[in-house]
Amino acid sequence: MLDRFAKHREIVNSITTLDDTEKELLYSALNIHGHFCGGMPMGYLAGLAGLKALGAPRELNMDKEVIIFVGDHHAGGCFADGVQFATGCTFGKGIMRKEPKGKWCYLLIDKKNEKAVKVTVKPEIMKAAFNSPFIKNYRTKGIPPTEVDQEVAIKAFLGLFSKPFEEIVNIEGPFDYKVDKTPSSHNLAFCEKCGDAVAENYLRVEDGKKVCLDCFTYNS
Ligand SMILES: [Zn+2]
Ligand SMILES: [Zn+2]
Repeated sequence: MLDRFAKHREIVNSITTLDDTEKELLYSALNIHGHFCGGMPMGYLAGLAGLKALGAPRELNMDKEVIIFVGDHHAGGCFADGVQFATGCTFGKGIMRKEPKGKWCYLLIDKKNEKAVKVTVKPEIMKAAFNSPFIKNYRTKGIPPTEVDQEVAIKAFLGLFSKPFEEIVNIEGPFDYKVDKTPSSHNLAFCEKCGDAVAENYLRVEDGKKVCLDCFTYNS
């Protein structure tokens, strides 16, 4: 595993078009993502492009949100990881959500200023990615990314870094965006049936008992 991290460091350090902070984040992203591919760096660059267009730094105080339009069962997950790592808007923090449309596209929202930008990978970039040996000779044959010839995978990984953002993505905005300001519950409760800890806003009442969704049996 440590060998792999060292390889990640070596390849990321070879990129001359990113500054030190962007490289450090990309290195972390690559360690978490786990393999060289073309999709994660595409999402990473699309993420940086979105932040630049919005004129805002990477998410730090839950002040941004991403709605991503990749779907399931297509080569979109790697792209979504790249967008998460660049913007800092992660699924875990609840500030990234998916609206599956099968598109390499996302909305970056500044919740404080209620502004957003829409970032879409250019069709010609998508076409080139799907025609690359990484996809054509390996992924379409069901070969997992870590088993792709590493020279081919690294070439796919590095492919876009020499291009300016304008050649990779189309950007709409910034435009006004109405933000959902539903507050988060910080009240901890315990299911009166199974005892699990559960957030209060997910409790239901059944037979006069406060229960979790697993124990709730009424059909509404
Ligand atoms: Zn990947
Ligand atoms: Zn329960």
